[in-house]
This record gives sequence, C-alpha cells and structure tokens, in this order.
Amino acid sequence: MKILLTGPPGAGKGSQSERLVKEFGLTSISTGEMFREAYKNNEKLGIEAMKYINKGELVDDDITNEIVRKRLSKKDAESRFLLDGYPRTVAQAKALDQMLSDMNSSLDAVIKIVVDKQVILERMVGRRVCKQCGQTYHLSFKPPKVEGVCDKCGGTLHQRPDDQLESVLNRLEIYESKTKPLIDYYDSRGIFRSVNGDQSFDEVYAAIKKALEDVI
Ligand code: ADP
Ligand code: AMP
Repeated sequence: MKILLTGPPGAGKGSQSERLVKEFGLTSISTGEMFREAYKNNEKLGIEAMKYINKGELVDDDITNEIVRKRLSKKDAESRFLLDGYPRTVAQAKALDQMLSDMNSSLDAVIKIVVDKQVILERMVGRRVCKQCGQTYHLSFKPPKVEGVCDKCGGTLHQRPDDQLESVLNRLEIYESKTKPLIDYYDSRGIFRSVNGDQSFDEVYAAIKKALEDVI
C-alpha cells in the first residue's frame, strides 16, 4: 500500500496520517517532519531548509527530492508507505515517479483532504506542537490535558514559526499555484480521490478509509 495524502496546509494530513500509519503499519514519510528533525539536530540541511520554511516558502525541489530518494531506499519503505506533504510541485511528482519506477513500483492512491480557507486559518492559528516529540494539538479542537504540556512526553508545546498568519497566507498562495496542479497530474491516472476534511477527526478518518477501500 503506497499512498499520498495531499491538501492545503492545516487540512489535517498529519493528524490523519498518524492514525493510518498505526492501523495499516505504513512507513510515514513527511518531508516537513524530516526538515524539522534535521533542524532540531543542527544539521546543515535543516538550518538551510528552515530559512524557507519560516517564511512559508517551499524548499528547493532538488534538495527535497534528494531526502525523499534516500528515505525511499530504506528497507521499511519498500512496499508500504504514506507520503505526507510530498510531492508539493509537479516537478517533485515527476521525480517521485522516476524514483518509484526505478524500484518497479508506483503509487496506489492519492487522497486530497479538502477544506476551505476559513477552516484552514482557524486550524493553523490554534495549532500547537510539542517541541520534543512533534505531537500536534489544537487549542480548541484537540487541547492537551494540561495547558502547554504534551500528553505524550511532557514536552513543551509551542506554535510553529510558520503558523504565524503572514507565513500561513503565503503557504496558501503557494499551495494554490504550485501544489494544486498535482490534482490534474494524478487524476489523469485514475488514482486521485478527494475527501471532505471539514468534519470531525473520526469522520475524516472514516472517509479516507472508504476512499482507500480498493487498495487496503
Ligand atoms: P496538516 O498536516 O495538513 O498541516 P494537521 O494535521 O497538523 O494539518 O492539522 C492542523 C490543525 O488542525 C491541528 O492543530 C489539528 O489538531 C487540527 N485538526 C486537524 N484535523 C481536524 C479536524 N478534523 N477537526 C478539527 N481540528 C482538526
Ligand atoms: P508541513 O510540515 O508539511 O506543513 O511542511 C512545512 C514546511 O516544510 C512547508 O511549508 C515547506 O516550507 C517545507 N516543505 C515540506 N514539504 C515540502 C516539499 N515537498 N517541498 C518543498 N518544501 C516542503
């Protein structure tokens, strides 16, 4: 099972992928997470990427493709993975096709989580993330048991710098111009499905599972 979750920033990709990965034993490949991890570990790649990320811009295609290529070559990504937030441009989608075809493989399904701008803004402004383990919360929709403290590891919650309004608005514009064209790219291949993301966490999850019925 090789799937891609796409959709605008704040659509709920990370939240849903956490459950899919657990239930179906998939390897999670989130380029955003990989960049943040590299930054946390003081790696050159992470420090370089964060300059773009904080402004809400995309990291260079070649750099992004290269980290995915390395990740896909590991044993645990051979047959079951979930891509979250990659590809984000048609050039990345073409590079991914090449990587997969070199492995005699291809994507089974592309799921887009659809939400409108107002919902996105509400979700992004209230998102809080654990500095230590990366677990995601929302001030209103998924609050931690103790304010500012991660339920999972006790780490401190913070707002991602790229969740500041200015950066969010930039990310939304970039999504429209660079990432949305992926829909046509995958639709023409018959593997594209969309799911209403403006429902409860559980309802969105059920809709995704339904959309994946033939590949599960
Ligand atoms: P993405 O990975 O697409 O950027 P996230 O999964 O991080 O999005 O979700 C963005 C924010 O919205 C988080 O704070 C999350 O808790 C919240 N959220 C996600 N899905 C829902 C939902 N179905 N209902 C309410 N809040 C949600
Ligand atoms: P995410 O965690 O998916 O919200 O990604 C956070 C940020 O990381 C994005 O706004 C981009 O700046 C960068 N990023 C993540 N994935 C990609 C990608 N596939 N291509 C370029 N930049 C990316």
